Amino acid sequence: MKPKEALLKGGRIEAITRGRISAENHAWLAERAAEGWVIDGYTVKAATEATPATVEKTTTTNVKVVAEAYIRYPLGKYRAFTIDDHTEVTMRAACFNCHYSLVGHLCDEPLVLVQGRSGYHPVKVELVTA
Ligand SMILES: [Zn+2]
Repeated sequence: MKPKEALLKGGRIEAITRGRISAENHAWLAERAAEGWVIDGYTVKAATEATPATVEKTTTTNVKVVAEAYIRYPLGKYRAFTIDDHTEVTMRAACFNCHYSLVGHLCDEPLVLVQGRSGYHPVKVELVTA
């Protein structure tokens, strides 16, 4: 589908109008592409053990690309667990260290909030093997 159709479907915009897609919405589209949505102009390169997945903006249009989202750990391919007791946390959680969600976090020691607990907790992101 076209990027603006995806934004409409996702409730990010109320109508398809002319004009640029915001950097925030480009990042949102890249995250959806990483989840498996087929969106024109967003090409997902699958992750392997050695190379993390990336989403590339591929079409050349008159629309300037204002941001590229870096998807290191795509949803569905990775899961995150607290180190202390292996409680699963959402990959959408934001890392306190590097301020990216876990799908794109850049640091080696991600810390996230865990529902029902206080403070930030160290988590480990694991490749889903099944
Ligand atoms: Zn981090």
